Amino acid sequence: MYKKKLESKMAPKKAYKPFRGASSFNQPQGMAQAKSQDLSQSSNQISSKKSLDNDLIIDSIGLNYVTKTVPTNLVRNQQDQSRFNQKGDGSRKINGLSRTKGPKRNGGPRRNDKQGNPFQSKNFGSGSINVDFHKKTNGTEVSASGLIENSLKIYPLGGQEEVGRNCTVFEYDDDIIILDMGLQFSDEDMPGIDYIVPNVSCLRGKEKNIRGVIFSHGHLDHIGGAPILLNQLGNPPIIGRQLTLAMIKHRVEDYRKGTSKNLKTILIKNISDKVTLGKFKISFFQVEHSIIDAVGLIITTPHGTVIHPGDWTFEDGDKPGNTFGYSHLATLPSPKILMLESLGVSYIKERVSVKTSTDNLEKVIGGAKGRVIIGTFASQLERIAHIITYCEKIGKKVALDGYSMKINVSIAQELGYIPPHKNTLISIEKISDYDDDKIVVVCTGAQGESNAVFSRVVNNNHRFVKIRKADTVIFSSSVIPGNERSVQKVKDRVYRLSDNVIHSDIMDIHSGGHANADDIKKVLKQIQPDFFLPVYANHYMLVETKKLAMREGFKEEQIFVLDNGNVINFKKGQKPVVFKEKVNTDYVMVDGLGIGDVSEIVLRDRRMMAGDGMIVVIATIDAKTGSIIGNPDIISRGFVHMKENRDLIEKTRAKVKQIVKDNNPMTPADDDYLKNKIRNEMGQFLFVSTQRRPMVLPVIIKV
Ligand SMILES: [Zn+2]
Repeated sequence: MYKKKLESKMAPKKAYKPFRGASSFNQPQGMAQAKSQDLSQSSNQISSKKSLDNDLIIDSIGLNYVTKTVPTNLVRNQQDQSRFNQKGDGSRKINGLSRTKGPKRNGGPRRNDKQGNPFQSKNFGSGSINVDFHKKTNGTEVSASGLIENSLKIYPLGGQEEVGRNCTVFEYDDDIIILDMGLQFSDEDMPGIDYIVPNVSCLRGKEKNIRGVIFSHGHLDHIGGAPILLNQLGNPPIIGRQLTLAMIKHRVEDYRKGTSKNLKTILIKNISDKVTLGKFKISFFQVEHSIIDAVGLIITTPHGTVIHPGDWTFEDGDKPGNTFGYSHLATLPSPKILMLESLGVSYIKERVSVKTSTDNLEKVIGGAKGRVIIGTFASQLERIAHIITYCEKIGKKVALDGYSMKINVSIAQELGYIPPHKNTLISIEKISDYDDDKIVVVCTGAQGESNAVFSRVVNNNHRFVKIRKADTVIFSSSVIPGNERSVQKVKDRVYRLSDNVIHSDIMDIHSGGHANADDIKKVLKQIQPDFFLPVYANHYMLVETKKLAMREGFKEEQIFVLDNGNVINFKKGQKPVVFKEKVNTDYVMVDGLGIGDVSEIVLRDRRMMAGDGMIVVIATIDAKTGSIIGNPDIISRGFVHMKENRDLIEKTRAKVKQIVKDNNPMTPADDDYLKNKIRNEMGQFLFVSTQRRPMVLPVIIKV
């Protein structure tokens, strides 16, 4: 639900400015995803297994993924989308929202083509983007031969100015690899937008250079954009561990039925696997994070060794089989470039260990006298698995609810990460067949997402679960930055319904997946990078991380806080350079089936209608004389309740008559002129009468 920003409500009303953008209604968009819960097994497997390179294994994940029924019209519409699905370059310039200034567009060849710069106009179509890497950067004149060829360029397409939309491009001559393709959830000022995906328009024309896309783990801010972007980039090979690839495969299939068979997967079977992608040599290291199969990345090039843990935290060895530390990375070849997810830099609370949180969770579940209702992330598979196993031990039944949670658990069961637990897992419809103290419900939506199961339970809209006073309600997730208010609201409601509410502010029941400031210090000491790039967080967090690193003895010139679209160039023996020109990272907003087709004009209309509503003025005009016939009709939505404002509506009618009359009767009416006149003068009139600025939509009917 769109909420007007507090500041705009508080702002003093200014003089009326006519609104000129509103001339037509927007068609309602289709649903983003089929909501069907009809799950059926499919045996669609990718089974080819061949070796492409000495240390590169193309493998399938051999997974029976679960499909859901997609309405045929959805499939048809999706098939209709062109590869880029947009006019021009795969994105629309969104002025008000643009955070970076897009580079100049130039369809023609450029002077330096012959110098082999893959970034410059090889096969660039019209509307493509050329970044001039020959510009002065940081006050240094950069020569083409010195920098452009044979150097490592890194440019983040998202994740440097927000939490989400993580996506980073690494380029070396004609070889490109990409790390992660995440999505970002829309802000309050983007009504109706489902989510935002990274803008890959800068890679258009260079699809053939993309050697692979590596996914660090299966969280949505790392894989959520994959179904759209992989298709846009011609389905390059994807590299990841088992669960990550299975989740991507499922999302791709879910997005467009029958397309997951196009995925070329390179499975990281063992953490010691190595993959060669063009000139990039990739190896991996184990990281601790709040999802199974998260992996850290080492990208070896002649100009630097990039160390990127993806999302990470420390786990101090109290988890069986895990000994985590990152000291072994210190011996990698120099220069070592550490790209470190820094989301937790402002966490000063001591991190809760997995053991502490699971012990506490067991105590709460074991001791509960009523039912236990746990809200968590669908991707918290280890925790969900632990809850199921523990409940089996103590004889409680577990009901899972939430589409994504059921899917994830079934994927994890297929892969053998979660045992079947046939006698413990029950369907949500069956919970009333058991005593309350035998029931544990695990559902999605602890972030206060309005359409998730937890919110339905809390709002008393769930068919089978109604919270009772004796029930125990557990918030088993950390609050994602930006969701604080909605989580607080949900907490307020739950406290009215249940006497036993547990969340991480009152008990250590959740160990977050992100490192805190101490951990960042520790990892910097362990790895001792030559260059340090804080990543995957809001700008302020990146700057705080930079300050922290400087307090730890790093020099300012070793640290680079990049924005989305910044290009940093590494060449051995030279100082890294951040180019002045950025690549285009304008928002590509997804609304229903549309990708990037919601422009700033559409958003502005939506904001306006959400802010002050709209009023439709229908005037019937004599085509010959231009004089008004009868009383104009007024329709209002979201502006005033018409029945209670008859006086205003009558005055509005009279005003319309006056405006049309002033329009020189006896001459045929000019539609556009008259519409503009009605829009402007009615807008002025309504503003003076109400201090509101509804969208005015004039309709002229000539008879
Ligand atoms: Zn993550």
